[in-house]
Amino acid sequence: MMGSAGADNVRKGRLFILAGPSGAGKGTLRTRALSDIEDLTYSISCTTRAPRPGEREGADYRFLSREDFEDRVKRGLFLEHALVHGNLYGTLRGDVERETAAGRDVLLEIDVQGAECVRRLVPDCVMLFIAPPSLEVLEARLRGRGTESEETIGLRLENAKKEMARAAEYDRVIVNDDLERAAGELRSVILSCREKNW
Ligand code: 5GP
Repeated sequence: MMGSAGADNVRKGRLFILAGPSGAGKGTLRTRALSDIEDLTYSISCTTRAPRPGEREGADYRFLSREDFEDRVKRGLFLEHALVHGNLYGTLRGDVERETAAGRDVLLEIDVQGAECVRRLVPDCVMLFIAPPSLEVLEARLRGRGTESEETIGLRLENAKKEMARAAEYDRVIVNDDLERAAGELRSVILSCREKNW
């Protein structure tokens, strides 16, 4: 009934996935989307990778030991998880379900394997691919971060080539050539999905 605050009347939130190569700018676009768009939350991933300088437990990631991560996998706590560049990353099912049940849309910033898995489980999710303007620009960005070793940069570039080949499987490809422009496009895509579907 209109006006009732019963839990059954709360519109379920939707999942918006940001996938694409490491260094394409997913993290920056995610931060912008969260500050620009109302009722949008972010699911903080778990990872077995070591924190980078400045990263905070529970804000950037939940940093878990391999043992703890694998235990959570066995207990079925992850909506999706994947081995990315040699480390495990995963999205906790409980976090996502709590937010969507409360009517909030949830942004997931995950790799292409995770995105594929979520699409199978949650077919009405919106899959957005964040692409760098070119592999040369991607390489320059990864080096510019100053946080990765040569080996890690090489691995991330190799993976980027494979990930880029899958961009066509996505609902929308957003090329992060200019942050303001790409952030504006992301915002309008999310707002228009909301308008069209609900
Ligand atoms: P980074 O180590 O640079 O923070 O992340 C490496 C890659 O792992 C990025 O492509 C990032 O989007 C992805 N990633 C982060 N969290 C998750 C997650 O929960 N699941 C999956 N499948 N990938 C993730």
